[in-house]
Amino acid sequence: MSKAIKNISLAILATLIAAGAYLYSQDFRPVVYKVAEKAVEKIVTDSQPRKDDFRLLFCGTGSPNRTPARGQPCTALVANGKLFLFDAGEGAIGKLSEYGAPVGQLGGIFLTHLHSDHISGVAEVLHNTWLYGRRNPTIIRGPHGTEALIKGFESAYDEDLTERNRVLAAENLKRETVFAGAADIHVEGSSSVIVHEENGLTIRAFRVDHPDWHHAFGYRIEHKGKVVVISGDTKASDGIRQYAQGADILIHEALNSEILLHVGEQLELRGAPITRKRMAVIAEAHTSTLELAEIAQQTAAKNLVLTHLIPALPPTWIAEQFFTSGMGDIYKGNIIVARDGQWIDVLGL
Ligand SMILES: [Zn+2]
Ligand SMILES: [Zn+2]
Repeated sequence: MSKAIKNISLAILATLIAAGAYLYSQDFRPVVYKVAEKAVEKIVTDSQPRKDDFRLLFCGTGSPNRTPARGQPCTALVANGKLFLFDAGEGAIGKLSEYGAPVGQLGGIFLTHLHSDHISGVAEVLHNTWLYGRRNPTIIRGPHGTEALIKGFESAYDEDLTERNRVLAAENLKRETVFAGAADIHVEGSSSVIVHEENGLTIRAFRVDHPDWHHAFGYRIEHKGKVVVISGDTKASDGIRQYAQGADILIHEALNSEILLHVGEQLELRGAPITRKRMAVIAEAHTSTLELAEIAQQTAAKNLVLTHLIPALPPTWIAEQFFTSGMGDIYKGNIIVARDGQWIDVLGL
């Protein structure tokens, strides 16, 4: 090492030591307090949505096979100053908070069906919203088994609730509230059932076709003269054709068969336990992108939003273009591939 380089290295080292010593001696409390205050401000702001809001938030656009960028299924609606969830997969509460949803104003949870990826975050949504101030039961609706599921969560959280109840009862947070308010919905044939009505907001459930579920639902939301339809998991379904007619926004699950079957082949080639056959079974239970384009065209939905992507490709323009290839030749409306954290203002679209 030349003498010049040695001197420069020593000078850099001395500067770093001096900087370290300076930082160590500083009081960072004002900075930490500022960060904490900002977090509190965000919680308070987020818990007070505007009464005239009519917005959608995509809080999970993946499937069971989630990635950090695409979480398990979760679609949120903010309307009438409240937050309504349609499914809540793993990590839903964290994503909702991160994306600025008014988690303090939970108005209801509507389940499309009880596949684990659609329900694995429900308990934490209920528990966290209660822990941070929810004092009333919330509406929880879903197909047969929903009430039993929520009772099961209550039982699983028993020790936690007993302990917290002792501490939080003084704040009027009672353990009975956390998992209260659940009921099963029964829908016959091609009819529909109104599951919630409030200040001009109507949410109705209808049946879709998700083998082998006897009861799997889509939801039709009507508010301020607009119609939003959420498909849940389904293969190409008459229920969607019927209830999404003329919808302003059709939010539909989507599967790209070409990519999925390629993934299946590669897994099989490498001796993975998940086979090509499994991929074929998955494809049978869902709607391919080209089938979806046909349905959207038949219903004349103005906007088609793809979610529950199978496979859960990265949220990049190139991947999304590939995922939707061929759809534009069939469907003439607006196609949006939803991403986690994406908000859509229904009145502004
Ligand atoms: Zn699913
Ligand atoms: Zn499913």
